[in-house]
Amino acid sequence: MSLLSVARDGHSRLVVTATVTTTQLAVGFVSLLLACTRRSWLPLLKSRGPLDYLAEDGDDFESWGGELLRWITDYRKNCKKSHVISRVPHNYLIEGPMALPGSAPVEPEGYRSIMSDLDSKIVPGLTHWEASNKFFAYFKPHASYPAVLGELLCAGLNVMGFDWIASPACTELEVVVLDWLAKFLRLPSKFLSISEGPGGGVIQGSAGESAIVVLLAALKKKEAELKGKTGGRQNMVVYGSDQAHTIIFKGSKILGVEFHEINTVDSDYKLTAKALEAAMAEDERKGKVPFAVVATTGTTSTCVFDPLEEIVEVAKKRNLWLHIDAAYGGAYACLDGYEAKFAGLEGADSYVVNCHKKLLCPFDIAALYLADRNPVLAALGVESEYLRNEASESGAVIDYENWQMPLGRRFRALKLWFVMRRFGTVGMRDHVRNGTVLAERFAGKVKQHDDLELACAVSLSLVCFRWRGEGEGKLVGLVGGGGAGPGAEIKAVLGDKEKLEALIGPAGVGGRRDGVVEELGGVVEKVAREVGKDRAAVAAAVNEVLDDERKHAELLKAVKDTGNCFIIHTKLRGEWCNKYVIRLACGGVEQRGEDVDGAFQVIGGVLAHLKKTREVAKVVV
Ligand code: PLP
Repeated sequence: MSLLSVARDGHSRLVVTATVTTTQLAVGFVSLLLACTRRSWLPLLKSRGPLDYLAEDGDDFESWGGELLRWITDYRKNCKKSHVISRVPHNYLIEGPMALPGSAPVEPEGYRSIMSDLDSKIVPGLTHWEASNKFFAYFKPHASYPAVLGELLCAGLNVMGFDWIASPACTELEVVVLDWLAKFLRLPSKFLSISEGPGGGVIQGSAGESAIVVLLAALKKKEAELKGKTGGRQNMVVYGSDQAHTIIFKGSKILGVEFHEINTVDSDYKLTAKALEAAMAEDERKGKVPFAVVATTGTTSTCVFDPLEEIVEVAKKRNLWLHIDAAYGGAYACLDGYEAKFAGLEGADSYVVNCHKKLLCPFDIAALYLADRNPVLAALGVESEYLRNEASESGAVIDYENWQMPLGRRFRALKLWFVMRRFGTVGMRDHVRNGTVLAERFAGKVKQHDDLELACAVSLSLVCFRWRGEGEGKLVGLVGGGGAGPGAEIKAVLGDKEKLEALIGPAGVGGRRDGVVEELGGVVEKVAREVGKDRAAVAAAVNEVLDDERKHAELLKAVKDTGNCFIIHTKLRGEWCNKYVIRLACGGVEQRGEDVDGAFQVIGGVLAHLKKTREVAKVVV
């Protein structure tokens, strides 16, 4: 007859309907009492199962869902004013004043209290990747609003598209949008699912996962070709440049094969056919078995493009799998004028482009295209009795579980579908182009600055620059260039990565091992004597070369400390020693010219201050 209502907090209520008898009234009373004292009353409420906790969540979801979307919009607006890099101390959520409880709450909590912690505890620990116009680090991500809605829908629907029957729309939308994307990016038709051949696209979680999938397929293919006579996995070699992303190295580790990293210092950081040939010939002499090549179109450090056409020829000659890592650079194939950079793609076996980099989607959506799906199916295909179904057995459908490592798969195509429809190819192309325009704008300022120089040609939306240094020039003037002359001796010590790191530390913050310092001092002494130059002048020039990394590290740190510009560094092998290079990646969805100008102002201001205040570190005295 009555309704017993126990309020738990301001937002959710539990409601128990009961016909009241004296005993039940007593039970109800006790439950109420226990609930009020926050003791364990749940077992007493027999009618309350796990589903009851969700009974009201539909309404909550709608109202709090709206609230959350508003929260995200506000966050994206407000974070522009904040320090771009989070400044919380280590372990801040684990211990100390901002720590979260050590165990999960026993009783359900309302959204309001969760949201309150979101503001007070989570936001301070965020580095503002997405919406801050001061973020120029890594590669600027682009989770556009339509893609965020697609992501929400993906979670809301929560279908598992491991095979076609599990949710036909999940598979078929993926086929359709990946073909749309392939056309937008002007990929060879062999990569499209609608093409006559055995090719097609599949969404993977990342470029890293994609690399493992295709390298495994390549490995199995070569093993089958050689009928197992390979000398074992440790004897199998995949080739790429020293500029290839470390995921290739990681993938090789996982597969138990060797990654032959080819030095590109003499070829403008590009993988050349000549170097590739030489590396393979050397390995074959040792009895090793090449099985795959990875070329990169848009390397992570400097966005260099490996020359695909000549690499294709080397791979073809030995019947090797050619994978193209276009994780970042691939998006730029939509722009006119970039055709030459992608020439040769026709000869690739696989190609990956991350939609979560330049293509407006949040992580995780990597589009992997295969010229022939069969080697991947042979490597990863499994038959599970519990998944057998007529559609699969008809052979007329795609079952994506056999194209990937896990079984389960999210409906990730939704986010790309939302993006492609909401922006149109015109909007997407404008977005990609915007990054290149901003990069040119920043580079123009670098070129005009007395103390800065471009470290390499601007590529895509990336500018790599350096604080000019005189050390190398002075050294060459004093003792001669590398070659076989006395300069070679100094160069040899400076070029020894291990020794150098002992001197200046891997992060450029002073390692200094006295043995190494003494050795370098000795070499300077000897060379100065040989060439009849002032020892102090030679030492000063060497110090300046050594100081190069340290001054860049100081500049970078000071820029980041302002909170108004987040940039990172990379290192390139140089003539005398590794070169410290600062990377500025632009082109966020909302980034404009004035943001790039702002970044330049911050960097210029910090540099001017350091120039006045810092001293060249004296390693050799
Ligand atoms: N390949 C290249 C060229 C990249 O630049 C990156 C990341 O920046 C990756 C691969 C790694 O991508 P993912 O995180 O999708 O594995």
